[in-house]
Amino acid sequence: MITLQHIIDGDNVTGTSETLFDIYDPSTGKITKQIQGASANDVQKAIKVANEKLASWSQVTASKRAQIMFNYRDLIIKHTDELAKLISQDHGKTFADAKGEVGRGLEVVEYCTAINNHLKSDFSADVSTGIDSYNLRQPIGVCAGIVPFNFPAMVPMWMYPVAIACGNTFVLKLSEKVPSCGLRLTELMHEAGLPNGVLNTVVGDKEAVDEILTNDAVRAISFVGSTPVGEYIYHKGSSHNKRVQALCGAKNHMIVMPDADLEQSSDAIIGAAYGSAGERCMAISVVVAVGDETAEDLIQSLMPKIKSLKIGAYNEPEVEMGPVISKQSQEKILSYIEAGINEGAELRVDGRSETKRDGFFVGGCLFDNVTSNMSIYTDEIFGPVLSVLRVSSYDEALTLVNDHEFGNGTAIFTRDGDTARHFTSHVKVGMVGVNIPIPVPVAMHSFGGWKRSLFGGSSIHGMEGVRFYTQLKTITSRWPSGIRKGAQFHFESGKDA
Ligand code: NAD
Repeated sequence: MITLQHIIDGDNVTGTSETLFDIYDPSTGKITKQIQGASANDVQKAIKVANEKLASWSQVTASKRAQIMFNYRDLIIKHTDELAKLISQDHGKTFADAKGEVGRGLEVVEYCTAINNHLKSDFSADVSTGIDSYNLRQPIGVCAGIVPFNFPAMVPMWMYPVAIACGNTFVLKLSEKVPSCGLRLTELMHEAGLPNGVLNTVVGDKEAVDEILTNDAVRAISFVGSTPVGEYIYHKGSSHNKRVQALCGAKNHMIVMPDADLEQSSDAIIGAAYGSAGERCMAISVVVAVGDETAEDLIQSLMPKIKSLKIGAYNEPEVEMGPVISKQSQEKILSYIEAGINEGAELRVDGRSETKRDGFFVGGCLFDNVTSNMSIYTDEIFGPVLSVLRVSSYDEALTLVNDHEFGNGTAIFTRDGDTARHFTSHVKVGMVGVNIPIPVPVAMHSFGGWKRSLFGGSSIHGMEGVRFYTQLKTITSRWPSGIRKGAQFHFESGKDA
């Protein structure tokens, strides 16, 4: 049994909460690691250290901060296999998928190597005679990140590299289900040259989170996770005067038009619905087929592919889909499958026999003739369960997407440019794919949903991330050698000069 520890001020620290967290190998169902959770007191210490280091770190030049990001980039590349293995061991996703996740996090670090450029300010000369105006983007202070289980490396890397490159210090609260990779990534930041105390990483639950939400020294909080928890974090953090961004749950629809390339659409659905066992916030969980013929042809193409998915542990050869994260998650998914059957949907592929294996497996499931009032349609299941809805027109499909409470990602598959253009313009969703099933924005763009998939309005990484982790200062200056006008009692504008 491996015992993990928190990292505060560069030291490995044993937690003092009363909860001992078990970390499982989801492919066997066995406990492999443990960590004594971080108490409110432990988190307080992490925040105190981060606050003490703020003055010195925020004075380090952007070029030096960028140099550490260059070093970090090299270390992540060097340790990619090790990091991916840690992800797969705790989470269960395939090794190839875990490596892909590390690669996506790495791109954010690479974006941060150019932080001097991203922090570059605007300067306006002579806004009035002899008066200049310019902007500074300055660090906001101690920032915190609260992250979910499903991307143990990528989601933390959406946050702390950007915040730290902008001159802030950071407290990272990892998911208690998958902490190994986040802890190793913290060690590598120190190896890259980050001074102790700039990044402090703890593992805990509500007790740890509540300290972050209420501690006066924390100025900005990034949360990624489920909608009920995100809504709580957004409201509580905001009421304690913190800047909060909460990226939350999803139900991502893919519209398949009658003119779409059927095989391309079907392959895209297989990867997007069943990759990572459906445990992605950008997974496709709903297919809206326009026309009965489209629906039937698509389902005929999907069924054999779903039935032949290679399911297994992350390190088995050619495995395509791993287990889900926990026994509770497996049970929740099974209860939704029961609900779907009871509500009248047609289960055309039943993957429940996979639950007989050791570990937390659920095979790929496909529901046909799903309607918008069924719980398998309204709720986020977060497992390998795909619902097909049949509609008779594009307008009906668009209305479904727009009426759903979530608005994280969506996609349309079509050969028709007019339809695609109408869709990208009128759909009420934050991230949209055209013949791309999982349109996750790359690091220089920003990631974020609409509606109840995002609270706080600010997307993550890219320039939105830089804006979130900085505060804007605008300076207007006149030097004594400028023109003297005597006292002015009215608001001046450039036109008065
Ligand atoms: P979760 O909401 O259960 O947990 C997220 C984080 O909040 C964890 O660190 C957890 O320890 C903490 N937490 C849990 N319960 C809490 C409580 N009562 N009070 C305070 N903190 C609490 O989410 P999860 O199960 O780890 O992750 C899956 C969810 O995350 C899905 O809903 C998925 O859609 C969402 N997600 C969203 C995005 C996005 O960008 N929109 C990305 C990845 C995952």
